Amino acid sequence: MELTFFGVRGSTPCDGPEFARFGGNTSCVVVEAAGHPPVILDLGTGLRSYGSAVEAAREDPAAVEPYRASVLLTHLHWDHVQGLPFFAPLFRADATVEVFGPHHDDGPLAELFAGLMCPPYFPIRPDDLAADLRFTDVGDDTFDAGDAKVTSRRVPHTGPTLGFRVELAGRRIAYLPDHGPDCHAGAASAIAPAVLELCDGVDLLIHDAQYTPEEYEERPTWGHSTIDYALHVAQESGARSLALFHHDPAHSDDALDALVDQAVDRARRLDIPSVFAAHDSQRVTFEPVHAASGSPIRGLP
Ligand SMILES: [Zn+2]
Ligand SMILES: [Zn+2]
Repeated sequence: MELTFFGVRGSTPCDGPEFARFGGNTSCVVVEAAGHPPVILDLGTGLRSYGSAVEAAREDPAAVEPYRASVLLTHLHWDHVQGLPFFAPLFRADATVEVFGPHHDDGPLAELFAGLMCPPYFPIRPDDLAADLRFTDVGDDTFDAGDAKVTSRRVPHTGPTLGFRVELAGRRIAYLPDHGPDCHAGAASAIAPAVLELCDGVDLLIHDAQYTPEEYEERPTWGHSTIDYALHVAQESGARSLALFHHDPAHSDDALDALVDQAVDRARRLDIPSVFAAHDSQRVTFEPVHAASGSPIRGLP
């Protein structure tokens, strides 16, 4: 199984030489395993690059070659949906994309997307797309997304937001890009039982790591975690590796290098086997579960 980070930035895309290594695309991660349809985690601006890769991999662009994918959408904030209209497979009649996203009291997901993607904000409506684009509202549920077994749980953020646990090809991944618990007490903070359930013993935890403790003190209600809190969740849930994710747009490559150094030090003291800051285009390969390999996960620094 492979997992590729196509967008790792939080809040808004950013560009410039100071972001060149970690990248400036917003949340989008793709999980792929041979013989199974892909699972896309969020629809941020990184989705455009993934769509280009899908199209480039087609041997004969004129041939009918059905594309099928599931999307696990944590919430509707701009940085998690902006890539959708630029996802090339949606312009093909042989594509089927099913989006599982959070239930809202103010209407079904399909209706909310119709209001988000329409003139004057964007010239094309979801119904105008050639692909079969479907929406399914979920809450605290378990369901199948293609061949993946998924658990969704509501997590604190600013508005209805989900975290996901994905099990595919014998591997387990937890994805909580936007998670706003009380981080005031740092490592002593409480962790919601639903969060521990999602993250329990996963091979890889992808977690909100937007703030330093100082930044958190300035923005405690903005719905994000500190890096220390992400480490705390990894330790308490027994995650085998932790990807720091949803980097603050104010954190340059050099700033992130320094924050990762501190996090690696702390992870060593907490017995967390692996921690890294995810970057755009990073690919992580998980060896088959039955392989007698000394290094079951490749692509981690
Ligand atoms: Zn976000
Ligand atoms: Zn958000």
